[in-house]
Order: sequence, then C-alpha cells, then structure tokens
Amino acid sequence: MQQRWLVTLQDLSAGGRQWDADVPQALLADESVGDVAPLRDLLADMHWQVRLQRAGALFRLIGSWQGVMRRQCCRCNAQFDWQMQGDTAWAFQLGERLSGTDDDASECEYLAAPGEINLIDILREDVWLSWQADVLCSAACKGLCQSCGADLNRETCHCRADESDHPFAALRNLRIE
Ligand SMILES: [Zn+2]
Ligand SMILES: [Zn+2]
Repeated sequence: MQQRWLVTLQDLSAGGRQWDADVPQALLADESVGDVAPLRDLLADMHWQVRLQRAGALFRLIGSWQGVMRRQCCRCNAQFDWQMQGDTAWAFQLGERLSGTDDDASECEYLAAPGEINLIDILREDVWLSWQADVLCSAACKGLCQSCGADLNRETCHCRADESDHPFAALRNLRIE
C-alpha cells in the first residue's frame, strides 16, 4: 500500500492537502488493499481531484473523480466502456459522536484519533455510492428483439413487421384474466 494514499487527520497541516492524481487501477482492484469492495472491472487508472481541509473540528474531503469501467448493457447485453464520474463529499471528525449533535454533524464520520483514512477505500466507496445497476451502452440503444433475439443495433429483423401483418396480431394485445 502506497503511503501516498494514507492520511492521518490529526497530522494535517493548516493548509490542508490536495491531490490531482491518477489513482492506480491495480490498487483499486486489489482486494488485499483496504476494506471496501474492490473495483475489478476498471479499464484504466481513475482520476481524482480532491482536497482535504480542516474547518474547526471538521475535516472535509471535497472533490470529483472520473473513471472508465467495463460494463454490460442491460438492453443489448453488449460489453461497453462505461464512463463514470461523480463527486467526493465527506466530512470526518475525531472522537465519538456526542449525543444531541446538530444536523450539520449528522453526515459526519467519526474516527478514533489519530484518524487514519485510506483514500483508496474512500474512492471505492464514492464509486459504489454512485453505482447504477442498469446501464446502457447508449441512450439510443435499441436492445434485442424479444422474439428472435437479434441485436437491433446491428440488424433489422422481420418479427415486428410479420406480427402486424398477421390477421390475428391484435389478439396478442389481449390479456387472459
Ligand atoms: Zn445496448
Ligand atoms: Zn426479431
């Protein structure tokens, strides 16, 4: 584990820290690194612009990330490169949550001092939080024909035309209760 991705909140300098970095695909995919489920299907290193700053007792980690992952289209089943991006917005505090804390602190993660953070896990968490189960290769994906399974992005089948020509086509729309 590269030291670069480990941060100790208690040691943060007054100016904070920032990263504008390529986060190695190999680290994000390595299940022996960190605790959060690894990102196995990345096609490249991810890019992360993020800054960590202290404001009173709060440590805020704010930024944005981009990456590309191999996914399967939920309409046509084709593999495609899924371009993903999202925001990073975390708040940490050292110690334990006090009872009666205000709403402002409710989104905050409490860490025991000195407050070790593994940025690889944070980035993975960001990706999983923005995860979409069903993704499309393109918004215009035509999917597969329900009848013959043809990939309608690549070919035109005759199922639909045949059905509408059929004298009993209208019966297909009737439901038997
Ligand atoms: Zn598709
Ligand atoms: Zn068809």
